[in-house]
Amino acid sequence: MNKVLQVPFVDLAAQYATIEEQVGEAMASVLRSTNFILGQDVDLFEKEFAAFCEAEHAIGVDTGTSALELILRAYDIGPGDEVITVANTFIATVLAISYAGATPVLVDADPQTYTIDVSKLEGAITPRTKAIIPVHLYGQPADMDPIIEIAQKHGLKVIEDTCQAHGARYKGRRVGSIGHAAAFSFYPAKNLGAYGDGGIIVTGDEQVAQRVRMLRNYGQREKYNHLVRGFNRRLDTLQAAVLRVKLRYLDDWNDARRQHAGQYDQLLASTPLVLPLEADYAESVYHLYVVRTDNREALRDYLHEQGIATGIHYPIPVHLQPAYQELGYRKGDFPVSERYAEQVVSLPMYPELTPEFIDHVVEAIKQVADQYNPEPELAVYA
Ligand SMILES: *Cc1c(COP(=O)(O)O)cnc(C)c1O
Repeated sequence: MNKVLQVPFVDLAAQYATIEEQVGEAMASVLRSTNFILGQDVDLFEKEFAAFCEAEHAIGVDTGTSALELILRAYDIGPGDEVITVANTFIATVLAISYAGATPVLVDADPQTYTIDVSKLEGAITPRTKAIIPVHLYGQPADMDPIIEIAQKHGLKVIEDTCQAHGARYKGRRVGSIGHAAAFSFYPAKNLGAYGDGGIIVTGDEQVAQRVRMLRNYGQREKYNHLVRGFNRRLDTLQAAVLRVKLRYLDDWNDARRQHAGQYDQLLASTPLVLPLEADYAESVYHLYVVRTDNREALRDYLHEQGIATGIHYPIPVHLQPAYQELGYRKGDFPVSERYAEQVVSLPMYPELTPEFIDHVVEAIKQVADQYNPEPELAVYA
């Protein structure tokens, strides 16, 4: 019997093998110092990551979700306030708004880029609106210029959810340096992942940076002098040490992802699958490579039989999640997000993916793709 080539969805072990020694040394150095909380590596990583983002300040926290929540709190956004974001995102974007006590207001996704539909923004703004959170989904930047223009017109903050887009560029600028503040996650499978949870806030706003530093550390600026009721939401020194090692490779890893995406684009062009579109303003870092088909389950089943792992990001848009029924949205409110939730399939994507693996995925797709109907015209949304 032929042994089936196994293609994982991501392969964190393959990456670890390339940096094992450096990570080991970095962690051992923290263990010897016993400076586990807000140690030197946190400070150094914050400086290095801010420089990487071409931004002034970075403040390490425990998760990407905390990063979003603490930014909102630093801007005093809470009960009675509304924050606009997009219906097709990971639930954490919206949970962070809830944790801050504010009310999430959702808009649909753009049918081409899958990021927030800028043409729907003004219709969602009310006198209670305080901020917009565009999500750079799958590694592709949202269209920031028109978002910032609308925000300025209405006096709103723009908070980038950059949890899937470390290193991506919008019109040549790094994401995370474009809005008022940005939140990054270092969940292990993100483009820059820790070996546990982690997150960071990036901002050019000195006041927000100071407030977030207090909020993540019990509301104190000096020890035992608590100016506000803060939290314990710090980035671990051990994780910062790992992230410092990995940050040196991030551009190379993102380049590899872009190359793999280019290879998929080329080899899948002749199939009826709808492939990702890189907007002309964007340099995506392909956190995920997401295609669409009306026959998703059949495709996934076949790929699974061929030893190829796939994912769905995400199967249920936020407004249809049981957790968010209280927002009062119904099926039909966000047709693009709803339709795409039934069509999207994420193919294996990680820097260490090989041409051999990509060929195997493409050949398997071609075995069955002809049975699939091409995407009906987008005019159905009109
Ligand atoms: C991962 C992610 C988050 C949350 O990050 P955590 O570190 O898991 O809390 C938020 N938003 C998006 C879009 C994400 O992908």
